[in-house]
Amino acid sequence: MTDLGQGPALVADRECGECALCCILPDIDVLDKPANIRCGHCLSGGGCDAYDARPATCRDFFCLWRTDESLSEEWEPSRAHMMLYEQGPQLTVLVDPAFPDAWRQPPYAEALQARAAALKTRGGYVVVFVGDAVTVMAG
Ligand code: SF4
Ligand code: SF4
Repeated sequence: MTDLGQGPALVADRECGECALCCILPDIDVLDKPANIRCGHCLSGGGCDAYDARPATCRDFFCLWRTDESLSEEWEPSRAHMMLYEQGPQLTVLVDPAFPDAWRQPPYAEALQARAAALKTRGGYVVVFVGDAVTVMAG
């Protein structure tokens, strides 16, 4: 993932806590970080040891759970074992490879299918990455 994008307004009273999935699951070109490898700056328990110097890619990014209040607490990434983010009409889902079937389980499967159906009306879709496996949900 080259550009994780600009983050819109954050949902109030929602914090990253000990979640660090966005520092693990995506590839981050500017850091030469491959997908599904923990960034070398990632602190155990959450946080970044290069926080003040972290690249804009990190600085500007928040996953969809941090910005979309319609995603309930069960979508908290470290609980759901997946992180979501939007790229235009595409909803990208990066699943923790240690929990490869998480996105196929309720309530996630039904909710992602509903999102795919809604995105289809504007030419979008949901794409799910689990390691090297890619699934497109076209609605
Ligand atoms: S995946 Fe979301 S909740 Fe987790 S650390 Fe990143 S922005 Fe925070
Ligand atoms: S530099 Fe910091 S914020 Fe960016 S991926 Fe690494 S640990 Fe996360």
